[in-house]
Amino acid sequence: MAKDTLTAWLRDAHAMEKSTVDNMERLVKHVEDDPQLKKGFERHLEESRRQIERLETCLGELGADPSAAKDAVTRMAGIAQAYASGAAKDEPVKNCLAAYAFEHFEIASYTSLIAAADRLGEAAVKRACEENLREERAMADWLETEIPRVTERFLASG
Ligand code: MG
Ligand code: FE
Repeated sequence: MAKDTLTAWLRDAHAMEKSTVDNMERLVKHVEDDPQLKKGFERHLEESRRQIERLETCLGELGADPSAAKDAVTRMAGIAQAYASGAAKDEPVKNCLAAYAFEHFEIASYTSLIAAADRLGEAAVKRACEENLREERAMADWLETEIPRVTERFLASG
């Protein structure tokens, strides 16, 4: 029973990461004029793809079919909507704010998953989620330093 819950939460995390990959792919295309931002989004895009693989390994270890994970994708739509659609001039600023919020949702998700895996004695799942959590924290920290720079850059662009 509790193991089914852990599996369901891993599927949610899998859907979450698929949203991150979609978001990063879009953001990379929208920040061509800011190489520093582009590089950071590209780095996290690659990290997120590896995170998906880790989660699929976890699902496999629990005897679940990783491909069933796509069911939950729509759950993330509300958060994904926070990203700017492309028309607004302050789009880079808004996208950094949305990315920062999204990273913290990921941080919350892995913090919960680590506690659940620990409780159920699933050491490999716990380790995988700790690895993902470390990357989300690093991304959130990086964004926190980027937000003032991107904001000032936007204001200086007149
Ligand atoms: Mg992630
Ligand atoms: Fe992330």
